[in-house]
Amino acid sequence: MYCRRCGEKAEIHLRRHRAAFCSKCFLEYYDRQVNRNIRKEKMFGFEDRLMMVVSGGKDSMALWDWLLKKGYNVTAMHIDLGIGEYSKDSRELVEQFSQDWKAELIVVDIKQEYGFTIPSLARKTRRSFCSVCGLVKRYLFNKVALDGEFNVVVTGHNLDDEAATLLGNTLSWQVGYLARQAPVLPSDHPKLKKKVKPLFTLTERENLAYVLINGIEFINEDCPYSKGANSILYKETLNRLEEANPGTKQRFLATFLRKGRKYFQAYKEDLKLHECENCGQVTTAEVCSFCRLLKRLQQK
Ligand code: SF4
Ligand SMILES: [Zn+2]
Ligand SMILES: [Zn+2]
Repeated sequence: MYCRRCGEKAEIHLRRHRAAFCSKCFLEYYDRQVNRNIRKEKMFGFEDRLMMVVSGGKDSMALWDWLLKKGYNVTAMHIDLGIGEYSKDSRELVEQFSQDWKAELIVVDIKQEYGFTIPSLARKTRRSFCSVCGLVKRYLFNKVALDGEFNVVVTGHNLDDEAATLLGNTLSWQVGYLARQAPVLPSDHPKLKKKVKPLFTLTERENLAYVLINGIEFINEDCPYSKGANSILYKETLNRLEEANPGTKQRFLATFLRKGRKYFQAYKEDLKLHECENCGQVTTAEVCSFCRLLKRLQQK
């Protein structure tokens, strides 16, 4: 198979585009996609202070590398969740990349800062690992972005993530979530920053190709608590549909964003936002769910 653009030997075949590319032309394709998403969705510019959430996986490592190479004003933010070897390896890798690139990095070690790890918090509060983890991550993204005076929070969510979320929300008709699913979430409070997903049109496989071609290290292991998660089941289901019908994931998401999403806007909850009595972070209750969780932990 030969590269669609230059005729050299192809290295990657993208069935959904009925195209194959050599490494050089693939990187140009990747570049065009990310640039187009940032421009078309008005995500950010070179004057913005970006906080990029980096887990150490291929998607966030690809995007961190890309933003640095383009010269954006980006600081990475990594949370050490205290999940055994998985967290240890992820942190080491992210710190090494930051040193090699002399790239700004903020690490929040939750054990050191708050005295718990995700496993200990989940066990003591009898909640699922992913639900406490999601709550802690959302809280810290907002807090670090606010404390660091960043104006945009950037995440590495890719097409597979977004299509799986859409499938999950559609299966249970989560109309409020469907109203909010978008590549750009504008700020709806001065203390909450805009959130953007520049990789929302690129697949996991394409991000993997980007890191492999560029020789970027990434964490290839999954979090031990991800086994059996619904999001993985949705991804596997979509992969089967994609296999039979290339382009399914892209059409599912793009058509929803273009045609479907507007019908759910009426279900957007008009939430009254306050500042938490305890920590000052934005919440819909008097005390935010993070502070309530910490209180439960102290009572145990
Ligand atoms: S899979 Fe692991 S990292 Fe992801 S939300 Fe669950 S506990 Fe957190
Ligand atoms: Zn080529
Ligand atoms: Zn609080």
